[in-house]
Amino acid sequence: MKTRFAPSPTGYLHLGHAFAALTAYDAARAEGGEFVLRIEDIDRPRCRPEYESAILEDLAWLGIEWETPVRRQSEHFDEYAGALATLEQMGVLYPCFCTRKEITEEVTRAVDAPHGPEGPLYPGTCRALSSEQRVARMKSEPYALRLDLAKAGESMKGPVYFNEHGRGPGGEAGMRHVQPHLLGDVVLARKELPASYHLAVVVDDALQGIKLVTRGEDLFHATHIQRVLQELLGLPEPAYAHHRLILDETGKKFSKRNEAVTLRALRASGASPADIRKRVGL
Ligand code: GLU
Repeated sequence: MKTRFAPSPTGYLHLGHAFAALTAYDAARAEGGEFVLRIEDIDRPRCRPEYESAILEDLAWLGIEWETPVRRQSEHFDEYAGALATLEQMGVLYPCFCTRKEITEEVTRAVDAPHGPEGPLYPGTCRALSSEQRVARMKSEPYALRLDLAKAGESMKGPVYFNEHGRGPGGEAGMRHVQPHLLGDVVLARKELPASYHLAVVVDDALQGIKLVTRGEDLFHATHIQRVLQELLGLPEPAYAHHRLILDETGKKFSKRNEAVTLRALRASGASPADIRKRVGL
């Protein structure tokens, strides 16, 4: 058994993170397994070293111990580029030149614009470009590399499943049928950045030998696309346990701006690690 907690150093940890970290840690300890901490810092401009040190400090204060060295995604771009090259060779990627504004306009214009559970999906504008157009535009324009789900479907051997150990939204533990289209043709890399969240996570979960991915149910749809990537890349399949989210009084997820629920503020006001566990219902 091996679990992980994978925060991004873009703010201070709050009660929601404490719950996620303790859930992963407790799950590993219950089975005498291992727990790793992974710093997901590919989004360089938003990440700060002081947030990373604060993460280590806050987790240690909570009583969590992790294996060292801690894996930092920003130190492994070449591994993500390798996975991307494999997908490229399989022909399941295409360059997309659309700006955010163009995508929004296209979604508004098209009567049959595809929508998923999290909102409008990429309408596929650049999927139709010829290879000559692609090559020409890639020389001079910024672009993102998107996963072509239709092509990915052809490359997969059959229906894909994942093993949900938690409840997941609206269901019981058990095998779930993967629906690749929930998030559409997701971005896997950009011209200047060789990996998106989805790509980096599947590479890391495999390289670190993660057996159980515990994370909030807000990432339930991400699991569908990550299972597709694991199948395409021939990576081992972890089990998943999507857990409830810790919400504020108005029923919303805590945001990183909500100072009062950061672990540092709670600690400064005299809370103990046991109080934190109680507050998140553990
Ligand atoms: N880094 C992600 C976050 O901070 C978590 C990724 C994951 O658990 O897969 O939300």
